[in-house]
Amino acid sequence: MIEQSALKKIVLYRGDIVKLGVDAIVNAANTSLLGGGGVDGAIHRAAGKELLAECYTLHGCAVGQAKITDAYALPALKIIHTVGPIWQGGHAQEADLLRSCYWQSLSLAEQHGLRTVAFPAISTGAYGYPLKQATAIACQTVAEYLTRHPFINKVYFVVFNINAEKVYQEALARLIESEQIQEEETEQA
Ligand code: ADP
Repeated sequence: MIEQSALKKIVLYRGDIVKLGVDAIVNAANTSLLGGGGVDGAIHRAAGKELLAECYTLHGCAVGQAKITDAYALPALKIIHTVGPIWQGGHAQEADLLRSCYWQSLSLAEQHGLRTVAFPAISTGAYGYPLKQATAIACQTVAEYLTRHPFINKVYFVVFNINAEKVYQEALARLIESEQIQEEETEQA
């Protein structure tokens, strides 16, 4: 069940996640937490080498889980590192694990009193998760979390190109439509 108030807290933003002055940006990390390519590389480069030093103390992170560090030279207050699943065709719990990344990241943000959170499209780069499927999970999971936990004020989905922006717009529109249908059904009942 998703509420309209939750959907209103979701914002789509095209650009570089490292530039966002939000409470927490989420990193699509790998299990070592010691840096990689894509958004992970961009975050480590922009935050500075103190980030790597702190990440060493965390001893890695399991797929679907999340850990938090300072953000050092970034405008954000904190970085939440989560490890998305590597796409293996869809029968290796990828959907549950991806859902867990979004849920655990928001839960960790809330535990640390962080109210604005920015997500990249986790697993959709080097990890090969089909964008449309990953986006549907991202939007649905975040909307459900925000419905149940009103503490978080705003969630940014940060996309890197116009194609991804379109896919997110369509997924969010579908959620809004299904929400309206639910409301109409409740009114008639
Ligand atoms: P993963 O290994 O989880 O697939 P990637 O970093 O390879 O992670 O890609 C995840 C997504 O992040 C991709 O959709 C990619 O286009 C996007 N991305 C890469 N760099 C940035 C950035 N600086 N800001 C926002 N999104 C980014």
